[in-house]
Amino acid sequence: MIDCHTHTFYSMDSDADIVQMCLRAEKLGLEAYAVTDHCECAWWYPKEHYADTSLSEDYDFGSDFENSVGAVCRLKERFDGRLNLICGTELGSAMHDLGVAEKAVSDKRLDFVIGSVHQLRGLPDFAFIDYKKYSEDEIYALLSDYFQEIYELCRWGKFDVLGHLTYALRYISGNYGMEADLSRFEEIITESFRELVRNGCGIEINTSGLRQAYGRTFPELHYIKLFRSVGGQLISIGSDAHTVEDLGKGVGDGAELARAAGFDRVCFFRQRRPEYIKL
Ligand SMILES: [Zn+2]
Ligand SMILES: [Zn+2]
Repeated sequence: MIDCHTHTFYSMDSDADIVQMCLRAEKLGLEAYAVTDHCECAWWYPKEHYADTSLSEDYDFGSDFENSVGAVCRLKERFDGRLNLICGTELGSAMHDLGVAEKAVSDKRLDFVIGSVHQLRGLPDFAFIDYKKYSEDEIYALLSDYFQEIYELCRWGKFDVLGHLTYALRYISGNYGMEADLSRFEEIITESFRELVRNGCGIEINTSGLRQAYGRTFPELHYIKLFRSVGGQLISIGSDAHTVEDLGKGVGDGAELARAAGFDRVCFFRQRRPEYIKL
């Protein structure tokens, strides 16, 4: 199988040694293994660059990006013939600094770009919001803003797959315990998928939720089917591992969901173009 969403110690929230990750991927026999360290566009520059430093604990993602991409390029040579190593990035908050986003995605060393939303303008990452201070209506308003930003991101579309759609539920449902009804967002999600198809992009099945309190993939089967129903063809699968032990976890379940949604193949990306693996 493939694992196309993973982090290493070049991400602020991972200590995983990148060489150990590659050795593990080789041992697991992954047909494609993508390193996709965080590149948060809103915080690309060092801390001094920003007037408001209350919304992030981490800055200087430009350096992280260079370190990660540089290391993967070197490791491609070292693991040549042993591992199908993909040089990727998880591009966060592209809509918050389009100049940075355009610069990052134009880097010719990149094979693969995941477009993600982790935080909304003026708010911290969904991981760090204290939902106890929000009413149910206010939480739905947060979700509304989340899906609006997803839509904007999909319209921009200069990435390869949309990362972990419904990420906010990892915290709202999984940790805080509010079972949000997303049916009210069906229309904007459908329109987002249409934009992805128009831009030649796919979605990922992110299996991290399976090993977290949320207990489901990002997104769930319903949305994988919905993506297919509007003409979506490109599906990637990623564990979102931040540790060596989590590498490849759940990717078999992700493949099952792709099959259940009617897909007969998934893909990884090389030089920003999809290559297919039959299910
Ligand atoms: Zn993410
Ligand atoms: Zn990630």
